[in-house]
This record gives sequence, C-alpha cells and structure tokens, in this order.
Amino acid sequence: MVIANNLNEIKKTIPEGVTLVAVSKTKPIEDIQQAYDAGQRVFGENKIQEMSDKYESLPKDIQWHMIGHVQRNKVKYMAPYVSLIHGVDSFRLLEELDKQAKRNNRVIPCLLQMFIAKEDTKFGLDEAELIEILESEAFSKLQHIEIKGLMGMATFTEDQHLIKEEFTSLKAIFDKVKNNYSHIPSLQLTTVSMGMSNDYLLAIECGSTMVRIGSSIFGHRNY
Ligand SMILES: *Cc1c(COP(=O)(O)O)cnc(C)c1O
Repeated sequence: MVIANNLNEIKKTIPEGVTLVAVSKTKPIEDIQQAYDAGQRVFGENKIQEMSDKYESLPKDIQWHMIGHVQRNKVKYMAPYVSLIHGVDSFRLLEELDKQAKRNNRVIPCLLQMFIAKEDTKFGLDEAELIEILESEAFSKLQHIEIKGLMGMATFTEDQHLIKEEFTSLKAIFDKVKNNYSHIPSLQLTTVSMGMSNDYLLAIECGSTMVRIGSSIFGHRNY
C-alpha cells in the first residue's frame, strides 16, 4: 500500500493540467501493478529493453514514456507502442523515429530535450541547435513524428535559485518556439516536461505541464 499512498499524496500537490509520469525504472512489475491499481496510467522508463519487457507483461492501457537517452539502433523495439519520447536531442534521432513510426503506420509523439543545466553530464540541445532543426528543410519533410514540446533537467544541486533559473529558461524557450513556429504542422506544442521528485513543485511554479517522479512514489532505487 505504500506505493498507492505515496501516489495519492503526490497527486494532491499536482494541479489539474499537469501530467504525472510515474518513473518506474529499475522497479519490478509488481510495483508498477500497484501504482496501476491505484489509478496511475502513465509510466516512465529510461531503458528501451526494460520498458519493452514491462510493456509485454502489464495492462495495455498503460501509456509508456521513454524518458532516458535513446540509442538509435533500439528505436525499432519501442516504435509500435511508445506513447511519448522525452529525450530527443538530435535530428538524426528524429529521422530514425520518423522511419520507424512510418513502418508502424503511426505518428510518434516526441519532446525535444534541451540542455539547461550548468553541468556537462546532461544531454540536450541548446537554443541555436533547436532553431536550426525547426527551420531545416529536412525537418519539414518528416511526417511521422509530432513535437509536443520540450523537456529539460535542472542541475543536480541544492541551489533553488539556480534550479529556478534553469526551469524558467526552459519555459521561456518553449514560449518563444510556440510564438514563432506554430505554423509548422508537426509542432503541436502543449508540453513542458520538467521536474522530478526533489524539484517538481518548483518546476510547476515555473510552468511545467508534465512532471517525472520516481523515488517519491516507488522509493529509492538500487542500481
Ligand atoms: C530517474 C529520472 C527521473 C525521476 O527521478 P526521481 O528523482 O526518482 O523522481 C526523472 N526524469 C528522468 C529523465 C530520470 O532519468
């Protein structure tokens, strides 16, 4: 019951309009089933193989989000069922996603991951790279991906001011793109994915519409 309780406590703090992604990476099927039984339907994983195994074993109305770094050669395994990919950080990956989505006769919803942290361990695009992709001829030809918004991770720090600055900068880029590029058909901008167990309330204050919460629901992970 711990998982159901955690989930309910967190849900009380999340306003309507903000989607909760329950990050279940490394956690067993039974834990996910408990969260499912408590009403949760959106789950996030960071490894394609692990997510696909869980997809096979669990109810089919779960929406699976890939929140980790994506290797292009593994896209094909999740292309049939993945519901949102948060970590898209290159045009080459978009091309592969488009190709595999087409093969599966579907459109794959994606978020472009932005680099907002003051550390060099996090993946993501900077603003210039983002604009370059959006304005490119090659991008305009992709018909099987849909960009739903942006994703970012703040620096791993106690410094609330820094985290706030980073979240605010992601929201500002999102607003700018929404204002300037909404004529592009494959951009359907609704989502700013930012905020984890330790910083999701701050992220929501800064305009997050999707929070990715793992350890506060499922407990700490043993790697
Ligand atoms: C693991 C992970 C999370 C969840 O982190 P918690 O601190 O456990 O809430 C969120 N986003 C990404 C990209 C992750 O890899």
